[in-house]
Amino acid sequence: MLRRILLVDDEAKMLSALQRQLRGTGYDVLVAGSGKEALEILATTEVQVVVSDVRMPEMTGDELMTRIKRQYPDVVGILLTGYAELNAVIRVLNEGAVFRFLQKPWEPEALLDCLHDAFVNWQEKQQVNDQHTYLENHEHALVETDAEGRALYVNQKACQLLNVNEDITGATLEDVLPMLRPEQLLYLASGEQRQLEVQSVTSGQMLRISCQALNSERRMFSIEPLFELDILAIPELLSRQELLFQLDRLILGTDEPVTAIYLDINGFRRFNDSLGYQQADQLLAMIATELLKGKPEGASLGRMSGDEFALIFSGPVSSADSCEQLEEMLLPFRNLIHFAGRELHVAFRVGYACSPADGRDAGELLRNAQVAANTASRGGSRTIACYQKHMNSHDSEFVFQQSDLYRSLERDELFVLYQPKISMRDGRIAGAEALIRWEHGTKGVISPTEFIPMAEENGLIDPIGNWVLAAASAQKRIWEAQQLPDFVLSVNLSGRQLEDDTLLDRVSDLIKQNALHASQIELEITETFLMQDISHSLGLLKGLKALGVRLAIDDFGTGYSSLNYLHQLPVDTLKIDRSFITGLGQNREAYELVKNIIHLSHDMGKQVVAEGVETRDQLDILTELQCDEIQGYFFSPPVSADRFRALLENQPLIMLDVTTEGSVPSRI
Ligand code: C2E
Ligand code: CA
Ligand code: CA
Repeated sequence: MLRRILLVDDEAKMLSALQRQLRGTGYDVLVAGSGKEALEILATTEVQVVVSDVRMPEMTGDELMTRIKRQYPDVVGILLTGYAELNAVIRVLNEGAVFRFLQKPWEPEALLDCLHDAFVNWQEKQQVNDQHTYLENHEHALVETDAEGRALYVNQKACQLLNVNEDITGATLEDVLPMLRPEQLLYLASGEQRQLEVQSVTSGQMLRISCQALNSERRMFSIEPLFELDILAIPELLSRQELLFQLDRLILGTDEPVTAIYLDINGFRRFNDSLGYQQADQLLAMIATELLKGKPEGASLGRMSGDEFALIFSGPVSSADSCEQLEEMLLPFRNLIHFAGRELHVAFRVGYACSPADGRDAGELLRNAQVAANTASRGGSRTIACYQKHMNSHDSEFVFQQSDLYRSLERDELFVLYQPKISMRDGRIAGAEALIRWEHGTKGVISPTEFIPMAEENGLIDPIGNWVLAAASAQKRIWEAQQLPDFVLSVNLSGRQLEDDTLLDRVSDLIKQNALHASQIELEITETFLMQDISHSLGLLKGLKALGVRLAIDDFGTGYSSLNYLHQLPVDTLKIDRSFITGLGQNREAYELVKNIIHLSHDMGKQVVAEGVETRDQLDILTELQCDEIQGYFFSPPVSADRFRALLENQPLIMLDVTTEGSVPSRI
């Protein structure tokens, strides 16, 4: 770093004398003939230390220092003074605008010492700044104090939580933390790491306050809200009735558009299961608090039911502004949420509707926003869905299909197709994925992407999932009896099945009944589910792993950036999501991502399967990246059990080594 000094004096003679003294010292020296000129230089050039004479026409040295402190608080000031100006010097010293003063005439040594100290001081200020940035970005509210309990620093979060003014430096702890009794304060300050739970006087909220001694002179108090507060008691959060009432008033009061945004937490049921109702309620309160913090100005937020919220405001949502605001509100949920000692991932399905086109009263508008949010989930993406008229017709069809789906099991309308996974090592079939289909009486074959999400919502996934497990296991037994080559059979599990206590017994029974090798059965679980609550997932996976089956993470790369957590999970295989395979050869990011996933997985001793491989190009890139297995239309679509048997008997499907330029690899 260049160490730069700015010398300020109206007497040219003095300036050149000073410059002479500093020659050969390694400092970069700039000069200014007046305070005004000095400020101009500071505006464009980085300077760490300013040395100024006090007595100057127009702007005196002490005035200059006061202005520098205000505009450039990091700059360190030194004043050169005679006796006469002592009062002015004392004033700026007291203000903290000047680091030191040198009395005329000074020894050259004294000037150098003083400059040295000034640079040390500058560096210390930088460290304090870094420290402040660190404290500001900290997830908790923090109050730093000296040993006497005087506040040295209170971060923004603490100001909000404790409802105190930012400029509270110097205040006593009793002022900052009035909810603590003197003996509680003593207790906190008395040990290495102490904590207490107390109720806030301002909000009534329960707070956990902990204290840590940073060194013998400094302590850090960390304050964390404990959401023991009833969600219904959060003052800013409207009830359903209040929200409907407000929305009606908004709509009736204007011809302008009014927007209702519906926010539904993805799979909240799971949090109820893993956290218990009481804690799940606290999580809801925490989510509501976060949403309230980030909600656009002028908008109102209400709780519609258990895990559903709605945001309403005047104006259309389509403007770039409101979209941005909405994204900003959801921003905190991009990160993992630290709650009750766990790390959770909370995601929303979001849909909106806009009056008057999508509804002329509050009830209708909110219903349609909800319909839109539901389709956002059914599409499987986490995008924000806009209400469209056809969604409602879709919805009635949906209800109609629901009852059909109930009967599909009785009517034997479900069947399974098998899609091979090819080993890149020898071009042989290493595995197969069982994929369900529904042969609807009148509508023909319905894709699982349409009915599995529906089954997950209405609970039918349990019997359907069990049926697939049983059907696939029975089929595997048949193939084994036919003495076909070995391969691993994968079955998809939905999150809800994983929460089912009977799953372990069921899988273990199926393996025994059909005399299967557990290691030839693989269960595919989506990344989004696994990452929602990692510690909880870990327990579930360990149980399954103990049965000896293989585990795979499905749709890898689409969920929360999970690479960091991957090593914790006892899974054998990663299946890179099709969207990235499609992107291979088209965009650099997809290529880099796939490359990284493959390398990382191999480092962790996990296998990688690429799904949705459709082209030779994709295959070539995946070969180069040393992907282990390939699944996709390039080799074969999902096929019937009979057809799959034919594939098994006609291996290898591709001669990886003998393909030469221009020749098409032999495939079925
Ligand atoms: P998934 O687990 O990601 O399955 C892979 C999907 O990609 C399958 O769609 C498969 O047919 C399709 N696919 C394979 N290769 C290619 C290709 O080269 N190009 C393209 N465009 N697509 C390819 P499918 O069979 O429609 O299944 C869709 C989803 O439904 C599955 O996604 C899975 O999440 C779910 N699913 C299917 N069967 C079951 C089941 O038995 N239980 C559960 N819980 N979910 C299932
Ligand atoms: Ca799958
Ligand atoms: Ca997949």
